[in-house]
Order: sequence, then structure tokens, then C-alpha cells
Amino acid sequence: MDNSGKGSPVAHNTNRALAAAGPIFRLLMRPRELEHPDACDFVAGNPQEIASTEYVKTLQRALVPDSRSYFAYGPPWQPAVNAAAKALGDRLDMSLDPADVFLTRGAASGLGLVFRIVLDPGDEVLMMSPPWFFYEAMVLAEGADAVKVPLTETFDLDLPAIERAITARTRIVIVNTPHNPSGRLLPEEQLRGLAQVLERSSARVGRRIYLASDEAYARILFDGRRMITPGRFYPATFMLHSYSKTLLAPSQRAGYLAMPPEMPDKDLVRMALMVSSIAMGAIPDTGMQRAIPELEQQHVDMASIERRRDHMVGELRRIGYELVVPEAGFYLFVSCPIPDAPEFCDWLADRRVYTLPGEAFERPGYFRLSLTATDAMVDKALPVFEEAFATLAPSAAR
Ligand code: PLP
Repeated sequence: MDNSGKGSPVAHNTNRALAAAGPIFRLLMRPRELEHPDACDFVAGNPQEIASTEYVKTLQRALVPDSRSYFAYGPPWQPAVNAAAKALGDRLDMSLDPADVFLTRGAASGLGLVFRIVLDPGDEVLMMSPPWFFYEAMVLAEGADAVKVPLTETFDLDLPAIERAITARTRIVIVNTPHNPSGRLLPEEQLRGLAQVLERSSARVGRRIYLASDEAYARILFDGRRMITPGRFYPATFMLHSYSKTLLAPSQRAGYLAMPPEMPDKDLVRMALMVSSIAMGAIPDTGMQRAIPELEQQHVDMASIERRRDHMVGELRRIGYELVVPEAGFYLFVSCPIPDAPEFCDWLADRRVYTLPGEAFERPGYFRLSLTATDAMVDKALPVFEEAFATLAPSAAR
């Protein structure tokens, strides 16, 4: 049924968003028996084990009201904002003013806030491909247009292509570092280069281009790497952070948006963020806010994720799969040994190994595996990956 005409039950921009997100949503929501005891779930960055006692105890403590106003409408809880600003500033090697840090319901909620306060209908938002699933739909829902710039073969920024793609309509450029699905952590010289492109382009087109830096995986770093934010080099940057990945509890919504001290027109931007975050219900629940100072100290067990990364990369390469070792994030992005990745993923799914084809990321010919699967799932799945290679791509097998 065509819902897009004048009599559509939903708005024109919602229809545009649905057209963009529909195919991805169907891939994400494919029927799977993820709760089956033999299921090997590599689909998303989701917990596969019961949350830690430490995490649950923090939430329980945080949910005990200590005043009449505990559950009242009101501004964000200042100790949580202060804790987030201090911890983020330390990690990013920046001095952040707590007044420039806004609690959100995760990175997606922060991104939605940014879109709401700076986009006008007809504006363009540049995003790198492969993008996160919902950037485009979120942009279209605001009445703006999405412009895609492919990352290079090594998932680096193509700075000349970004500069060429910027027009007088460009309002926001989104970068995602560490990058989902490739695990690439953008190096300093590229981020400095991006800042120069954005300064030059803002001057060329005669208005400020904002940078939205999606840093949802900023604390999922391997091999002792350090996160570098483009916000250190480009003042008009919104840095989007989340506890979803750090604590591996993404349904418990919390995160924050931060701006560098040099953000232009800061008073107006601050006011717009404050009012919109209240109007949009983008502030985390009280229980989550009260937990933030303690949650800042907690972290998913990185040693076991890194060990799993090394084990899986080694075994998959031994079988014959081609993949780059991720520097950060939760995922392995693997070249599919046959051209049709959805068919390959279906074959695995028939054997209860659940993965996501590259079509969900505008990269046919790949499939993605989440390192949040358990070691037991990995042990069960590796022989299936071996059999898949031998059965479906025998000529490529070692
Ligand atoms: N950005 C990227 C790159 C992601 O991978 C995700 C979640 O998978 C999000 C944003 C959304 O994160 P959150 O749960 O914090 O809204």
C-alpha cells in the first residue's frame, strides 16, 4: 500500500524516514529465535549475560527517593552533570564546562536534539557511508536531506570528497569514531584535516557548518588506544556520548552531549538545547541520573572482549575469511565469501548463528559480528563458520 499521498495517516517527512529506514529495520527485525538455548547471537551490541551485581546495586540505590522533589519535574541533577563533564574532559583531554554538558537518553537522543535545534527543512546533512542505521531516517524526519560520502576502503575520511559534497545547504556533517561497523578509530591528523575542511567550507558557503561527532563507542578501545575527538580541533562540534556501550545495557537509556568551550553563539545554543531536551523528553529518568556518578566508574569487561576479538579474528582468518582487526567498538566487519551476504547470513541463521549482512550498512559483500556474544556462543559458532566457508565458497577455502 502506498502511504505517501495526501491522505497519508503520517506526515510526509515520516514517510520519507520510513522509506529510508524500512529495509534496514526489516533486516534488524528478521525473525530469529534469539532466546533459544542454542542460539549464537552476533546480531547487535546486546548483553548476552545477566548484568553485573555492581551495576544492578547502583541502580537500586539510585532509585531510593531522598526528598520530596526526587520524582519532580526539574533541571538535570547537577552532580550527575558535573561527574559526566569531569570524566569526559579527562578522557578527551579537554576542559569542559558542566554548563556545556547535557544529559540525554543516549547517543541517538543527543543526535536527535542536535538535529532539532539546528536543522531547517531543506538543509543537508552529510554522513559517511557506511553510516549508523538510523542517521538518514532521523535527518529525513526533520525535513532535511541526507548526503552520503563514502569512507575510503580502509574506512578513513575522504576529505577532498567531503569538501566537494558541501554546498550552501549543508548544515551538519556527522562523523562516527570509533566507527560502527568497521571498528576504525579516526587518527588525529584526519580530524585536524576535517576541521580545516569545515572552517574553509563554512567561510565559502557563508554560514556555520556544525559537526556532530557520534562517539558512542569512545570507551570501547583496544590495545591501549586513546580516543581523540574532533571537538578538540573544531569548535562547532557536538560530541555525543552514551552509557549504552560502556555498560552494555543499552535499554537503560543514558548518555550526554558535550560542546567545546569555544562553541560559537554558545548562550543561544545552550538555551536551545536545554529547552528542547525538556520539550522532547530527552533527559534520562531520575534513577539513571542519580546513578551516573557511580556508573562513570563502571565498565564492561574490556579484557574479555579484546580476548574474544583476538580469538575470533585468528580463527576466522585461519578458515579463510578476510577482515581487518578492529581498533575499537563491538564488531568484526568481515568480507563475505559469496557475493550474496543475506543468503550467507540466512544459511548461518538456519544453524542458529545470527549475524547481520552488510546491506544494513550500505556495504553489500560484508557481514557483521558482535563481540558481545559469549565465549560459549563463539565456540559453538566457529565450526559453523568453517562449514559455511567450505560449503558455500569451496573455491575460496584454504
Ligand atoms: N551511534 C552508533 C554508531 C551506534 O552504533 C549506536 C547503537 O548501536 C548508536 C549511535 C545509538 O546509541 P544509544 O544507545 O546511545 O542511543
